[in-house]
Amino acid sequence: MIPATGTQEGAAVYPGLDTWRSLPIAQQPGWNDDPQLDVALTELSSAPPLVFAGEVDQLRARLAAAAQGNAFVLQGGDCAETFEGMTADRISARVRTILQMAVVLTYGASLPVIKMGRMAGQFAKPRSSNDETRNGVTLPAYRGDMVNGYDFTPESRRHDPARMVRAYHNAASTLNLIRAFTQGGFADLRAVHDWNRGFAAHPAHVRYESTVAQIDRALKFMAACGADFDALRGVEFFASHEALVLEYERVLTRIDSRSRLPYDTSAHFLWIGERTRDLDGAHVDFLSRVRNPIGVKLGPNTRGDDVLGLIDRLDPEREPGRLTFITRMGAGVIRDKLPELVETVKRSGATVLWITDPMHGNTVTSPNGYKTRNFDDVVDEVRGFFEVHRGLGTVPGGLHVEMTGDDVAECLGGSDRIDEEAFLTRYESVCDPRLNHQQSLELAFLAAESLAGH
Ligand code: PEP
Ligand code: MN
Repeated sequence: MIPATGTQEGAAVYPGLDTWRSLPIAQQPGWNDDPQLDVALTELSSAPPLVFAGEVDQLRARLAAAAQGNAFVLQGGDCAETFEGMTADRISARVRTILQMAVVLTYGASLPVIKMGRMAGQFAKPRSSNDETRNGVTLPAYRGDMVNGYDFTPESRRHDPARMVRAYHNAASTLNLIRAFTQGGFADLRAVHDWNRGFAAHPAHVRYESTVAQIDRALKFMAACGADFDALRGVEFFASHEALVLEYERVLTRIDSRSRLPYDTSAHFLWIGERTRDLDGAHVDFLSRVRNPIGVKLGPNTRGDDVLGLIDRLDPEREPGRLTFITRMGAGVIRDKLPELVETVKRSGATVLWITDPMHGNTVTSPNGYKTRNFDDVVDEVRGFFEVHRGLGTVPGGLHVEMTGDDVAECLGGSDRIDEEAFLTRYESVCDPRLNHQQSLELAFLAAESLAGH
């Protein structure tokens, strides 16, 4: 067991913040005996917070609105961010794609869209196997750049605590750039709409031209009414990641000077993955003790008792905005499995936010051996999600996708069709397959049509 290394003000003594250390814990790096662990944690313990408690509270209020049907959430980004991939071009392409999707969804839902990146901290991955074997050589599996490297060598695959410090600095510079983009004029509604016009002008996307034309008319109408477009030049953009490596999350947890309560300042929103949501495990305990809004992934084997237990542990005060369930059922089963969970929550009286992750239940291997997803399955799961909530009179509150702003080939299909041959030259993900720029936008148009009831 590692001592409670953190020396950060107050947080070291806040009751319960270290209870997780005595609980069963899954998916952690094997670096506990490395003397560099203490060095890294000491450095991080005095590093400034990445986000501020007031922003986290703001997001919680926004998510409460979404849970009640008054906003819609768009959460997107890489499965696994990499240190190498943190270039200005890639970050701006991703932010731009999310903004483009958000405009389309805003129009379709006639609701404000809460924009959240799987960005600026999405560096740790749960894995189904501890090892990976290639050509008879077995090495530790890649667990995200916060833990080890993707290159298949013993040195790169070693779990290195110093990587936590790099993850922190990379998150800080990504967040800095995101803040600059989203506040500095890049997010201007008219510019974002112009990019969408470019998308719809592509011959593969003619069917979306009418939605773009409708948004065009809406913008002209706003202008004619004297809308203050300058006020629309900036947008709120929140950071989120899976809270997996608990030493990292713990050391960045700070006591808010206003409320004297603990906030995990590594991101605004944190979620617990499908593999670490054990009710009696370390992850649920730790995240139950921070004030951030918390998400939990729910796969197809989730039972009604699991969701009730999660509500009791993570949202004992039944506070709208506190708890989000991110369902990732699979297109083939969502219509069968989701209703029971939604009804169970409805009966419990809690107001949780329901978001669909149409990616993780739809992963398949292509005939040429790549981990992929079919665009049609992704779309079908989103439709199933809307259908289930419509049928039960509950709120379909958002969309969580693995996407990039680049022209990669990792998921099959889309109108500008990607086939498996393209994987040979344009498959870049180090983890799960992402929708590329065009597929992401197309999904937003299709989801907007569903939201608008077409
Ligand atoms: C992920 O979001 O990349 C992930 C690992 O998801 P899940 O926990 O739903 O499998
Ligand atoms: Mn993933």
